[in-house]
Amino acid sequence: MSNPARIDVDLYSDTVSQPTSDMRRFMCEAPVGDEQKFEDPTVNQLCEMVAELLGKEAAVFMPSGTMCNEIALRVHARHGEEVIAHRSAHPINSEAGGPAALAGVNVRAIDGPRGQFDVAAVEAAIRPRTRHAPRTRLLWVEQTSNHGGGSIWPLARIEAVTAVARRHGLATHMDGARLMNAVVASGISAREYSAFFDSVWIDFTKGLGAPVGAALAGSREFIDEAWRCKQQMGGAMRQAGIIAAGGVYALRHNVKRLAEDHANARRLAEGLAGLPGVRLDPATIETNIVFFELSGELTAPVAVERLLARGVRMGASGPRLIRAVTHLDVDAAAIERALLAAREVFKS
Ligand SMILES: *Cc1c(COP(=O)(O)O)cnc(C)c1O
Repeated sequence: MSNPARIDVDLYSDTVSQPTSDMRRFMCEAPVGDEQKFEDPTVNQLCEMVAELLGKEAAVFMPSGTMCNEIALRVHARHGEEVIAHRSAHPINSEAGGPAALAGVNVRAIDGPRGQFDVAAVEAAIRPRTRHAPRTRLLWVEQTSNHGGGSIWPLARIEAVTAVARRHGLATHMDGARLMNAVVASGISAREYSAFFDSVWIDFTKGLGAPVGAALAGSREFIDEAWRCKQQMGGAMRQAGIIAAGGVYALRHNVKRLAEDHANARRLAEGLAGLPGVRLDPATIETNIVFFELSGELTAPVAVERLLARGVRMGASGPRLIRAVTHLDVDAAAIERALLAAREVFKS
């Protein structure tokens, strides 16, 4: 490995943020107990907060969002059954084959602009009831859509696609890794979005800025089954309150401020959009994720390397595609420094 460049502005992902000293102190002092026995007061508190926030009967604390997704798949679907999800969805691309390995499900990938699909796409993907076809069991929505550029599913579209699902007897799941970004940007509550889904989870380690954990919510019965899977997969913990406290702190202090990340993402997009060889429409930036395409000779891996040499980290998501994500360790001044570097890298 070569010597890594000093990173001044890290836009690689909203997962890179460091827990603040106030959050760390809160975590240090959190009362703890045996989570598996429901004796950890901080884990219990976090689960109550999340169930209340999402308007569900119960919630379970998990080590990661990936485990929320994989366990939701297992609870909703049996081996050989099928899940409908957008082609860019996290479990299809970033969970190491978990849907096949852990849940034994088929995933029917469907398309649509900006990580979203419409009623017609869902209707076309639902299988006929024959002996030959896999049985369609679950509809999957990612709010916001990561590879859709942090796009927000409009409530009306959620209502429409989940209505089709229910009419066909399918369960519904929302991957809400960045649900709170959608809530802050749209002014629509987490409860309103969640009401259309049987299960939903939020991540504490993305924009919310905690070091570990996510929480999955649903009916009491659903969460009892999710707990069984969590135990089986080795996700049941002990004095987990010490990490759950990061989630409690994040829900109290780090939700409203997501608006700053959105303003910073918009400012970044506006600055990048004017540069030679950069293809980007700033009007498409709704939350904290900025994708842009390169139309000149420069490829994404080379551009990302040159940015890094100037202290700015972004991610190459394809040969000509770059992703930058804002979060609580990047302020408005840091965005200006990132743009300064970008002006040097992307010049005609
Ligand atoms: C990050 C992410 C996940 C996985 O969450 P982890 O906590 O990193 O396991 C799932 N879905 C989406 C959309 C994500 O962005």
